[in-house]
Amino acid sequence: MASIPLRRPTRRVMVGKVGVGGTAPDGLPSPVVVQSMTNTDTADVFATAQQVAELHRAGSEIVRVTVNTREAAAAVPKIKERLAQLGLDVPLVGDFHFNGHKLLTEVPECAAALDKLRINPGNVGKGAKRDEQFASLIEIACKYQKPVRIGVNWGSLDQSLLARLMDENARRAEPKDATGLMREAMVASALESAARAEELGLPGDAIILSCKVSGVQDLIAIYRDLAARSDYPLHLGLTEAGLGSKGIVASTAALAVLLQEGIGDTIRISLTPEPGESRTKEVVVAQEILQTMGLRAFVPMVVACPGCGRTTSTVFQELAQDIQEYVRAQMPAWKLAHRGVEDMTVAVMGCVVNGPGESKHANLGISLPGTGEEPVAPVYADGERITTLRGQGEQGIAAEFRQIIDAYVEKKYPKHS
Ligand code: SF4
Repeated sequence: MASIPLRRPTRRVMVGKVGVGGTAPDGLPSPVVVQSMTNTDTADVFATAQQVAELHRAGSEIVRVTVNTREAAAAVPKIKERLAQLGLDVPLVGDFHFNGHKLLTEVPECAAALDKLRINPGNVGKGAKRDEQFASLIEIACKYQKPVRIGVNWGSLDQSLLARLMDENARRAEPKDATGLMREAMVASALESAARAEELGLPGDAIILSCKVSGVQDLIAIYRDLAARSDYPLHLGLTEAGLGSKGIVASTAALAVLLQEGIGDTIRISLTPEPGESRTKEVVVAQEILQTMGLRAFVPMVVACPGCGRTTSTVFQELAQDIQEYVRAQMPAWKLAHRGVEDMTVAVMGCVVNGPGESKHANLGISLPGTGEEPVAPVYADGERITTLRGQGEQGIAAEFRQIIDAYVEKKYPKHS
């Protein structure tokens, strides 16, 4: 893959067995890690373990769960156990707000079972209790040797810090505007909390930072600043990205700019699922951002043309969708058996205008007949035309093309020894 952006050098933090930031044992920069979060009641062990398993099987390498009550804290070790019974070793992150110090003290098994603690410095406590409760959380992280993500969120920015910065800002010859001040407060909250955590004994290579906002330009500006001022690994995400295409577009716009600059070590896409939609969509979107940018490969890519007046039936769209779903469904088994299959590209094209050309650039390609063209579909493998499908089989062109894909994978990506 050409011109992959250089990653910003950072410390390396281990979250369970997943390395975040820094250099992997092979000497290359650690890959950007895909993360997600459950939306089940964590106290419901069965439902939460089930959703963690779904997210992990979809490709989430780290999963965060809310820990908001004693019942939720008590459930965490049981969720881990259940995942182990399913044969899954998924690093779990506990998300703590307001009462984290209390829950982790009262339910130490929760701290022991988690692989990372997420602490929001704006929600640790108020007034004099804030420092005490923050220290207590860090003490627990040190005791159980757990890394901590210091996760600032603009919806819960530390108000005392903001008031202090406002006072300082008012005394400046050229004060910052409200946006500039908010951005500065976010970065200061993360960096000051990290410095405090290190003073309290948490190793620097056990700290990850994040500063989530919902505005694309704010996110880019804040992370550029954070990246310039520290070498902690950074978790990226646009908070409250929203529903459907808006959430995907906004997250992609923000994250692509930062990733292209080498900024970002873990990512999460905070999509609001539409009713009935799977939570795993956020994992698929995160993978697709990384894969389309050439940063990682997860699943064979299906390249499809948009269709136009030359594709007046739905056959072309149906085939593109069928093949996309097919390769994703095969991937768990392929991944175990066929090294490198995730780099494969499959082109599904609507007619002869660009079909043969695009098909020749892909590993495998099919060019369907456009309106008025002869009803045949030439298939290309590694740039050569290998056959022509006529859709005469019992299940038509889709089934025939799936068989060709299977045969190509077997031959091109031999089984691991
Ligand atoms: S390849 Fe053919 S069907 Fe697809 S967009 Fe181009 S002209 Fe239209």
